[in-house]
Amino acid sequence: GELLLHWQPVLRAGGQMVGAEVLVRWQHPRDGMLMPDSFIPVAEDCGLIRPLGRWTLERALSQIGAWRRSHGQDLWFALNVSAHELAQGTAYVAQHAEALAANRVPGACIELEITERALMSQLAENVETLRKIGRLGVRVAIDDFGTGYSSLAYLRQLPIDKLKIDRSFLRELDTHPHDAAIVQTIAAMAKALGLRVAAEGVESEAQLARLQALGCDEWQGHHFSGALDSAQFGRLISPPPALAGSAAG
Ligand code: C2E
Ligand code: CA
Ligand code: CA
Repeated sequence: GELLLHWQPVLRAGGQMVGAEVLVRWQHPRDGMLMPDSFIPVAEDCGLIRPLGRWTLERALSQIGAWRRSHGQDLWFALNVSAHELAQGTAYVAQHAEALAANRVPGACIELEITERALMSQLAENVETLRKIGRLGVRVAIDDFGTGYSSLAYLRQLPIDKLKIDRSFLRELDTHPHDAAIVQTIAAMAKALGLRVAAEGVESEAQLARLQALGCDEWQGHHFSGALDSAQFGRLISPPPALAGSAAG
């Protein structure tokens, strides 16, 4: 009962908010708010990641369904997926089907973020599982792209829609010509494969301008907003008071 979800807005290059990444936190009674990097790896090691992932999926879908009904907005939401969750195969597909149906959320509202490493853990099985999840309308993004497995051959086997460029390539985008070359190359390859390109960890206007010039379609980061709690995010997606008033009256 101490886990909670935060929501980080994702924007389109033009500046419009199009979705949000769902990020888990642990409100610990003694240690305060724990960030996922401090407990997800432990959950993965001790076998708790499956129940944790399932809780995240169900809690997220329930909140998303409620927001869709109360706010009438059409955003998508990205969930982070561990290798152990994906390894459940058809049982994992069923969890998604059930959570979508129970909350009356269309699959097209959900995107799964998977790292290259998690995908490669058992590639053939994971491709099969992702194809089945894809039939629900759910999309797949490769997270932390550029840091994991070095073979690009898997890209043509996979039902993926988007590459998320790892934050490490953004830090020195202005000063390090190699980082700009990497971002540009990833964007060009993604375009050629018909994939969207996203950047995370955008902290400044200069970074954003550079990313857009290099061909990024979507971005998230502290330059617009960090991860927000549910109340804050709910306010962000609320219609302005004038509109809400006229809709009610
Ligand atoms: P990630 O998927 O790469 O998530 C992005 C991380 O970057 C988030 O950290 C986010 O708060 C942070 N971030 C976003 N914008 C900025 C920025 O402008 N500057 C900086 N310095 N950081 C930024 P967070 O929330 O601590 O999450 C860390 C990692 O924990 C995530 O990395 C993801 O791999 C994992 N994680 C989070 N939630 C879940 C979950 O529900 N399930 C699983 N399996 N993993 C999760
Ligand atoms: Ca992610
Ligand atoms: Ca990432």
